[in-house]
Amino acid sequence: MDATPDGARHAHFMQQALQEARAAAQQGEVPVGAVVVLDGAVIGRGRNGPVARHDPTAHAEVLALREAAQHLGNYRLEDCTLYVTLEPCAMCSGAVLHARVRRVVYGAAEPRTGAAGSVLDLFGYPQINHQTEVVRGVLEAECAALMADFFRRRRLENKARERLLEPHPLKDTALRSSAQAFAELPGWPWQPQWRSDLPALAGLRMAVVDQGPQDAAMTWLCLHGSPAWGYAFRHEIAAWTAAGHRVVVPDLPGFGRSDRPKKDKAHSAAWHVEVLAELVQALDLHGLVLVGHGDGARLGLAVAARMPQRFRGAWLVDAWPLAGQPEKRRQWYEQAARKPGWSVGEALLAWEGRAGNAAERQAWDAPFAEPGHRAALRAWPRVQAELPAVPAPLLAQWAGRQRLWLQSGAGRLVAQSQWQDAWLQAVPELARHAGVWLLNRSVAAVPAAAQDMARRAVEYFAA
Ligand SMILES: [Zn+2]
Repeated sequence: MDATPDGARHAHFMQQALQEARAAAQQGEVPVGAVVVLDGAVIGRGRNGPVARHDPTAHAEVLALREAAQHLGNYRLEDCTLYVTLEPCAMCSGAVLHARVRRVVYGAAEPRTGAAGSVLDLFGYPQINHQTEVVRGVLEAECAALMADFFRRRRLENKARERLLEPHPLKDTALRSSAQAFAELPGWPWQPQWRSDLPALAGLRMAVVDQGPQDAAMTWLCLHGSPAWGYAFRHEIAAWTAAGHRVVVPDLPGFGRSDRPKKDKAHSAAWHVEVLAELVQALDLHGLVLVGHGDGARLGLAVAARMPQRFRGAWLVDAWPLAGQPEKRRQWYEQAARKPGWSVGEALLAWEGRAGNAAERQAWDAPFAEPGHRAALRAWPRVQAELPAVPAPLLAQWAGRQRLWLQSGAGRLVAQSQWQDAWLQAVPELARHAGVWLLNRSVAAVPAAAQDMARRAVEYFAA
């Protein structure tokens, strides 16, 4: 910096510009500060603020020039000196020339955008500049350090943010299917959001499809049973988002695209309920209609019993409401638990009573392609025995408001009359509400039929 008597004066005002720059940094803006001085007094101040002001022209120099011009009541700043911590850009240099500022004093050079000598020198053209003198490098080290410090800190912050976005690391107590196993499933375009932040997951990654507006009047919480996954709702999701509703479809831990604990004992009914309750709270879901298949219905009912104010009703398909399992149903889950070669795809299609197609078989088999991935299937008979009793008062309340549908299964494992008797035993009040029973309906996932039912559900539950 220069050593003339001007030097002390320049340093004094550059300190004031530095104060402005530090204030900009505290607001997350690139730290550049400026002051305009006339006759030894500061008449304008500016700090860089394009981000917060949503203004690409909100550079420190422009703001300081504006304030000075307001102060003087004149757009010409002919006897003024502009102090700025960083070499001005082309825009600011242009503004300085328009204002006919006498002198520009800057601190650090700006090698990428500087227009006062670094990249170009607007002040060096006699054709456009007759009046502005440039003084360079005042408190240069301090000004440059402020910039370097700011960008170093920002790099660290960006790295921290990237860590949050990193693929959720796989715990060594868990297994994960390859993405390819689930790629290009026909009729399944939905990408899940990955969650591992729910405390009950303890670091496991969970797949959650979340479609439709967050402020929708109604949200369909779709819970699959064992051994299925969210793919079970492929025909309904589009119908409900088309109605303007939100649809949330998690894959339970151990199923679908969610991580699979290696050990059977990781699974308990209480754990699954806790995970789902935390998910409902984390997504702040309201106006929920529980769409529960099989034992997913029981898990969802346990969540609803804990936070009934978030639920408006339920559509339960092939749910068994009592503690003891009917014999054929018990055997079906025992086979799934014990036979390592048990084909989930074939079993589910047989249960639906149809041949299905290769894509459907692939979708159902994908989570359990290897024996090690089957801990949830092995654990499931025990989990079923742990399921909490169905919340009879809540179900009776929904039935009274016509916010409950009970749909029987395909009848292969449990006869329809046996299923209905079980529900009447669990919730005797249901005998008074004929409208809750959906009987003699195919559960088979015929697309048109499933979409038609989904639209009927919109009319029924939105009423
Ligand atoms: Zn600028």
